[in-house]
Amino acid sequence: MRCIECGDELLAERAGLGYQYCTKKQCQAKHHKGLTITAIGLNKSADTFIVGDQDEIRRRAEAGEFAKKDSGLGINYRTPGPAAPTKRPQPGAAADLSLSARRPWTGEQEKVVRLYHAMGLSPRQIVERAQVNTPRLGITESLATKIICSLPTK
Ligand SMILES: [Zn+2]
Repeated sequence: MRCIECGDELLAERAGLGYQYCTKKQCQAKHHKGLTITAIGLNKSADTFIVGDQDEIRRRAEAGEFAKKDSGLGINYRTPGPAAPTKRPQPGAAADLSLSARRPWTGEQEKVVRLYHAMGLSPRQIVERAQVNTPRLGITESLATKIICSLPTK
């Protein structure tokens, strides 16, 4: 199999693809038909081809048609890259943390302190009453003070 233009021997794989001409610039210029290639300079270093027939352009590229150094052209297949893994925030985690930091006592402790506070007892009196009536809650004076401070003022 020889080039119909210059008579040089064709590469077997190129002949197998049905080409009757070689990859020389002058041979391609005469026989390269029916394919429109638009090179768009996306940046200074790489060109992207927009082609009508992806299969054909790939076959031609594989046959060396676009690999000539004198053309200065390369082929650039654009494939979608893998999606970046998205970091899932954990909703509620931060809120729960701040809540427990702000209110380091149980609802039961707060209920008792609220009750005694509503009765007009001081934190010390509240602790004395709580130690008698609800010792398992472990209410201390500083805890009672904190709870009272957290209560909405009237
Ligand atoms: Zn030729």
